[in-house]
Amino acid sequence: MTDGTPKARPTSNQAVIIAVGTELLFGTTVNTNAAEISKMLHEIGIGVLAHHTVGDNPKRLKRTLDIAFEQADLVLVTGGLGPTQDDLTKEVIAEHFALELEHDEEAQRRLTTFFESIGCPDFTENNLKQTYLPHGCIPFYNNAGTAPGFALHDPQSDKLIIALPGPPREMRRMMDDSVLPYLTGRSRYTIYSETLSYFGIGESNLETILLPIIDGQTDPTVATYAKEGECKVRITSMREDADAAKAAVREMVERAEGLVAAYREAE
Ligand code: ATP
Repeated sequence: MTDGTPKARPTSNQAVIIAVGTELLFGTTVNTNAAEISKMLHEIGIGVLAHHTVGDNPKRLKRTLDIAFEQADLVLVTGGLGPTQDDLTKEVIAEHFALELEHDEEAQRRLTTFFESIGCPDFTENNLKQTYLPHGCIPFYNNAGTAPGFALHDPQSDKLIIALPGPPREMRRMMDDSVLPYLTGRSRYTIYSETLSYFGIGESNLETILLPIIDGQTDPTVATYAKEGECKVRITSMREDADAAKAAVREMVERAEGLVAAYREAE
């Protein structure tokens, strides 16, 4: 285990999300995590290229990991970190990178404290599964539950994987507390973004108007949000050169404003 100092340096501003859980394939649980993670990543200038959903099946998860890493250098996985037999995400990730799972003292301490706090000090053996993490990873301790997540960087391939718990409350908290600060803190890119506000145009309409710049976007990214009678467009660039990021956003802002002005004139 590392000393908690992030060492990875994500070089990509594009990611793929994998949601793990058979209940997602049954349709009994809607995959809200992928949508939420996408929005959060977008906010920090990371575009999402694909969402994959896979059941609690190690072979298929392994194959999905291979596909995801063909698509991007950054992969975020949610679900399958819990204590039960079908929670296999960590094991599959460790195997993918040919790493062992190692006991993590801090995860054990937190787990013990958690069970004591709910008046249940003799937690079952299977809970200890949550105290094992892949060798060399950066643990992300869970401030809203028990299963820790982690970031794992492979220096040879420069691939970075981030594992998050499935329960949406835990996923959100870990994104806010650990993952987003980690990704922004370690990135060699500067993020610059501007937000435009429009009234009297619906979100889907605005998306159609902005299609020429939304379609095929990589950097800057262009995202529309609806908000109580108002529609917002957030334009974000993530570049090594801060001036280049700002210039790219400014240019895209002008194109967006031009498209909206042309639409209003034609109305
Ligand atoms: P746990 O400690 O609860 O086992 P886990 O990381 O193993 O956590 P899962 O067992 O995969 O997570 O999922 C726990 C619950 O979280 C699911 O029953 C479901 O309600 C919810 N959940 C999991 N994945 C998603 C998702 N992608 N979108 C929305 N909800 C999800």
